[in-house]
Parts: sequence; C-alpha cells; structure tokens
Amino acid sequence: MAYKMTLIPGDGIGPEIADAARRCIDATGVEIDWEVVDAGIDVIDQYGTPLPAHVLESIRKNKIALKGPITTPIGHGFRSVNVTLRQELGLYACVRPSKYYPGVRSRYQDVDLVVIRENTEDLYAGVEFPKDSAEAQQIIAMAKDKIRPDSAISIKPISVTGTRDIVRYAFEYAVANGRRKVTAITKANIMKCTDGLFYDVAREVAKDYEGQIEYEERLIDNMCMQLVQKPEYYDVLVLPNLYGDIISDLCAGLVGGLGMAPGANIGKEMAVFEATHGSAPKYKGLNKVNPVALILSGVMMLRHMQEQEAADRLEQAVAAVIKEGKSVTYDMKPDPTDPTAVGTKEMADAIIEKLKA
Ligand code: NAD
Repeated sequence: MAYKMTLIPGDGIGPEIADAARRCIDATGVEIDWEVVDAGIDVIDQYGTPLPAHVLESIRKNKIALKGPITTPIGHGFRSVNVTLRQELGLYACVRPSKYYPGVRSRYQDVDLVVIRENTEDLYAGVEFPKDSAEAQQIIAMAKDKIRPDSAISIKPISVTGTRDIVRYAFEYAVANGRRKVTAITKANIMKCTDGLFYDVAREVAKDYEGQIEYEERLIDNMCMQLVQKPEYYDVLVLPNLYGDIISDLCAGLVGGLGMAPGANIGKEMAVFEATHGSAPKYKGLNKVNPVALILSGVMMLRHMQEQEAADRLEQAVAAVIKEGKSVTYDMKPDPTDPTAVGTKEMADAIIEKLKA
C-alpha cells in the first residue's frame, strides 16, 4: 500500500525544487500518495494567512511531510511560517547534515558534520516587545539601568525540558548513526543563566553515554573559527536554536553551499523534511537553482520511513551526477556564469536517469 505524505511546495523557488524532489523520490519506486497543500506568501490572499489550518491538519494526519522553503518578511509583517510550524507540531529537533560529496567545489574534502539544532525555544520563541510598549517598559524598569529606555526587547527562554530533549536526541542520533562525538556549543561565559543551563543539562545527559560517545564543549565564537580551520575534527554538534541556525549555514558553506544542505525537523510524533536554504526569491521561476538540498532531504525522509535501500540508491544517484559534474546547476560550476550549467529540472532528470541505470 502507498504511503500517504504531505507535500508543501512553499513559495519562491520552493515549487520548482519540490517538483524535482518529488520526481526523484517517486523514481526510487517507493509508492507515495502525495497530499499537496499550499502555504506561504502566495496563499495569503486566498486564506488570509500564510499558514492555513488545513496545512497543519494534513501533517498531523500523515505524520511526515516534505516541505519547500517559505518566505518570511524581514523586520515586520507575519511571523515566520517555518518557525510557527516547528513550534505548533512540536518538531523540537532540527537535523542538518553537512557532508562532502566528491566533485563538489569546496575548500574542504574531509567534512562529515551533523548539526542538531534545538527548534522550539531560545530567541525564536516569538516573545518580543516593541520599543515603547508597556511590557518593554516594565522589563526596562526591572533591569535597573542595564537597558536603554528606547529599547525593543526579545526574550531568550532556554528550558531544562527543551535542552534535555535536544541533547538526548543528539546522543541517540550519534549512537544510531555510528558517530563518535557530540560537541555542545553555547556562549555560556556571557549568558550564564540560559546558556549555562544548556551546559548543565547537557553534562547530565552526557553521563548516560560515557564510554560510548565522547562529549565536549565549545564557545560559539571559537567554534566558528575552528569549523573553518579544521572541520574534520568535529562530528555531531548540538546547539540552541539561534546558534544552530547560523552554524548550519556555515557548515553548508564547507560542503559546497546552501544548494547542498538538507535537513529534517523531527518531533516525537511527526517529521517535516526541508532544505536548510530559504526561498531565494530572486531565482523564482527561473529553473536555475540546485534541487539537491531538497532531494537529500528526501533521502533523509526515506530513511525515516525505514526505506533504507531506496534512500541509499537515491543518495548514490545524486552523488554520481555530482561526481560527473556535467548535469549540474550554476552553483556547482567553477564559474557561476558557465553556459554548460543545467537547470533545476534537468539536474533532477539526470539523477532520475542514474536511478534507472
Ligand atoms: P536563501 O537561502 O533563500 O538564499 C540565499 C542565497 O543562497 C540565494 O540568493 C542563492 O544565491 C543561494 N541559494 C539558496 N538556495 C539555493 C539553491 N537551492 N541552489 C543554489 N543557490 C541557492 O536565504 P535568504 O535570501 O536569506 O532568504 C530568502 C527568504 O527565505 C527569506 O524570506 C527567509 O526568511 C526565507 N527562509 C526560509 C527558510 C525555510 O523555509 N525553512 C529558511 C531560510 C530562509
């Protein structure tokens, strides 16, 4: 019987890469009955919201979704659909592997990192007070001269529960995937309460894996330098939400850029698979961008469904096309204006050809 899955094409470049990923996943032979539901800026006129209730219902019902990126206005406008979706569905663990595939243009060859980012709290909790609001003024009064009167305020909650869940997820991921080390990353020397709590809890959880998985800590600023200098030294990284978001893009840059970086948002009951990158609006409708990040997110989805063999074949097909370097998008060519670069659709076609070979 076919699996029933939710597919959210998203906006910007989303529909193009979602179509490419869906075709590649279908070509593995795993039978999926896709329930396509739209979210993002293009549905606001129709539903009055970028995240209609039936989209959440579809994921709650099907338990697994593949999702294209969705635009978030900067500094004003509606709240991030991506953040809301993770919070509403309790998708507490964001898993973002950064792995080097031979043929990719990168300064590094020996990179195989996995970022495990806490997905529901921290500065992304959405507890924000505008300048001059009564709440902001109240906090400013409580802070006794530490905050300027003309400040806007965002709150950074880090809980024992959220930290325990994400750190345990990181260790369990390490065990299940034959990894050797978990590195917890914060700025606990400055944010002693919140990031300090993250370390306290992480150390407690790490004790359960002593002798099995190594545990270490790094400060986020030092970690940025270390990752650029010697990424091969690291393995599984576990971080609060904001640091995890930023480090994910840094790690994507180590293995060929955002076009190569897949991801998964995992909850206790549901999972949503999506690329690390956003909706890249300037490339919308141009059949130009790299579909690999979402296709590799599909590989992660197949593994989550225990379709290991299909997942391996799809990953090998992607790796073969990258290694050949012929049917690849502009971002994978030495010169981005290289006229031999193919489009999104054509790169997906080449991957499907490899699957059939
Ligand atoms: P972005 O990731 O969309 O794009 C940044 C740049 O990266 C692009 O201009 C392009 O040069 C490159 N790039 C991204 N994806 C690529 C691909 N598949 N192939 C080749 N090159 C690629 O980041 P941004 O411009 O900061 O954000 C655009 C919008 O996306 C914003 O509204 C942001 O909020 C949103 N966003 C959504 C998600 C999500 O849906 N999960 C994630 C990040 C950003």
